[in-house]
Amino acid sequence: MRSPRLTIELPSWVDGLVDWQRRYPRPEDRMALVIAVGHEQIRRATGGPFAAAVFERDSGVLVAVGVNLAVPSHNCVLHAEVVALMMAGAQLHSHSLGAEGMPQHELVSSCEPCAMCLGAVFWSGAASLVTGATKGDAEAVGYNEGPVFPESYAHLERKGMTVVREIMREEARALFAAYQAAGGEIY
Ligand SMILES: [Zn+2]
Repeated sequence: MRSPRLTIELPSWVDGLVDWQRRYPRPEDRMALVIAVGHEQIRRATGGPFAAAVFERDSGVLVAVGVNLAVPSHNCVLHAEVVALMMAGAQLHSHSLGAEGMPQHELVSSCEPCAMCLGAVFWSGAASLVTGATKGDAEAVGYNEGPVFPESYAHLERKGMTVVREIMREEARALFAAYQAAGGEIY
C-alpha cells in the first residue's frame, strides 16, 4: 500500500461551454456565466449544483471556472469555490490572486460560501466576493454551510475585501430546484 496521487480536472464539457475570450464587465455578466455552468453541471450530472469563477475584477477577463466535484472526485474539499481558486492559481502560476504586480481578482459564486470556502476566499488574496443564492437558500434544500456568521463577513470586509451578495439570487437559487428535479443527491 502507498499514498494515492490525485489529479483535479474539470469535467470535459466546461471548455466547450465557457467563452474564455469575451469580457464579463458587470456582476450580472459574471453571475450569468456561473449559473450557466451550474445548469450544465446538473444536466451532465457531473457533481453538485454549485459553480464559481474567478475574474480580473476591473477588466472582466475570465481567469478560471470551478464546479463542485466532491462526490465524483471522492474529495470533501472540492467545492466550486475551492476548485475555481485552485484553477486560478494554476492558470496564473501564483498561490495568491493578490500578488504584487497582478490585477485584482474577484470570486463569483452561485451561492454564499460554506465555512471552508469562505476561509479559502480569505486566503486566496481575492479582492472581492460576489454571491448569488444565500446560505439560507442552500440550507433550505438540505445543505450544511457550517459555521458562517455575520462576523465572518465583517472580518473579511475589515481586511479590505468587498462583498456583494444576492446578485441574481432567484436565478442562482433555481439551480437547487433544477438539481432536485434531476434527482441529484443532497449531501
Ligand atoms: Zn464550500
